[in-house]
Amino acid sequence: MGLTRDELRGGFRGLGLDSGDGVLVHSSLSSLGRVDGGAETVVDSLRDAVGDDGTLMMPTFTRYDRPYDLDTSPSTVGAITEAFRKRSAAVRSSHPTKSVAAIGPNARTLVDNHDLRNSIGPGSPIHRLIDERGGAVLLLGVDHTTNSALHVAERLADLPYRDQLAETTIRRGDGSTETVEVNRVHCSRGFGVVGSIARRLGVGREGRVGDAAARLLDGRTLLSLVVELLDEQPGLLLCDVPDCDRCAYGRRRIATTG
Ligand SMILES: [Zn+2]
Repeated sequence: MGLTRDELRGGFRGLGLDSGDGVLVHSSLSSLGRVDGGAETVVDSLRDAVGDDGTLMMPTFTRYDRPYDLDTSPSTVGAITEAFRKRSAAVRSSHPTKSVAAIGPNARTLVDNHDLRNSIGPGSPIHRLIDERGGAVLLLGVDHTTNSALHVAERLADLPYRDQLAETTIRRGDGSTETVEVNRVHCSRGFGVVGSIARRLGVGREGRVGDAAARLLDGRTLLSLVVELLDEQPGLLLCDVPDCDRCAYGRRRIATTG
């Protein structure tokens, strides 16, 4: 027997997710253990947890080296996000590499006008969910290295390093393609450090949903915490992976401007 829709809903409610909430979900299906009905059941149970007045958002990121088709390009960030974007109620944003999908009363306005060069910065769909809707961040079986909201904090903190630009392609409804320039968000492999800091400060709630370790954090609290930390320590989110060009660039910028 796998996990049921009701058990999952109970798990999300136990974590503090409530009717009417807005929440950005980062997830790993396999972390939950066996789920009856798989990813579809997880999507149903999340919708049950926030109700008809709640708003769910998930990243539906896509590859730089493939043309982006809003209707058909699969999400590269997990089975739950792919099941979610295919729902008839879901609206997906037009960003060719960092699209998000949302379901709920505010979904359309949250994902509209996704700026090509502001994929996950101030005013982007993820920031709008947090800032305008008081949205939370749910990490379901994943750690902060997948937490896209931290890219918003990087931009709000006015760090000496900047997003680089990259080219990618959009495919229109009529089959034509267009090459565009997008910002390339910074490396997130160093974001895990936020987990232990948040835990130490008592920010967010942790628990289990099925077999998955899960955390629910208030988005505004998380952003202000990380912005404050970055003001003190601008290299906080840079990773230690030896061949990481982007974090090496970040360190150089910090060294030359600090
Ligand atoms: Zn890195």
